[in-house]
Amino acid sequence: MNQAPCPRCALPFQEDLCPACRLDPPPFVETLAPFIYSPPLNKALQDLKYRNKIHLVREISKLWKRALPFQLSPDLWVCPVPLHRRRLLKRGFNQSQLLATQIFGAQKVKELLIRERHTKPQVTLTYRERLKNVRGAFRAQNASFIRGKKILLFDDIFTTGATLKECARVLLKAGAEEVRVAVIARAE
Ligand SMILES: [Zn+2]
Repeated sequence: MNQAPCPRCALPFQEDLCPACRLDPPPFVETLAPFIYSPPLNKALQDLKYRNKIHLVREISKLWKRALPFQLSPDLWVCPVPLHRRRLLKRGFNQSQLLATQIFGAQKVKELLIRERHTKPQVTLTYRERLKNVRGAFRAQNASFIRGKKILLFDDIFTTGATLKECARVLLKAGAEEVRVAVIARAE
């Protein structure tokens, strides 16, 4: 297979825009996803998240940087997808924030979103239900910083994109000029 991923959502093996992006273009202009969510990386991401293996942040970040020689332009700021504070308390860390900081450096990472609503786990939900589940779950903070900025929204996994679309929508509504997405892995 030599077909490239969809430039908007990184769905693998597309000729150009995938059918979903053609039908309903996401609010972000592109998705950087150097890996497919499959073994052994999916195991590493689960170990990091659910088994507290924080040392994997360094390993996974190294893989990301090696796979994707990507230079952050000086006018691009990185915003990790936030956890709700209840989940943050339970887990003790936000894996997306740790990974973004390791990859891009703390000075480029800005926490511009707050997760206000504790949402149900998305795993068992359909795409439509996921969209509904996250609708209104995020709020922009530091709006004066966001205005006119280019933002790279960062998460560990891109599954259906429902969360990333909602976050991008909120950032654009708060005045961001443009939103891109970067993740470690894209689920097929
Ligand atoms: Zn797409």
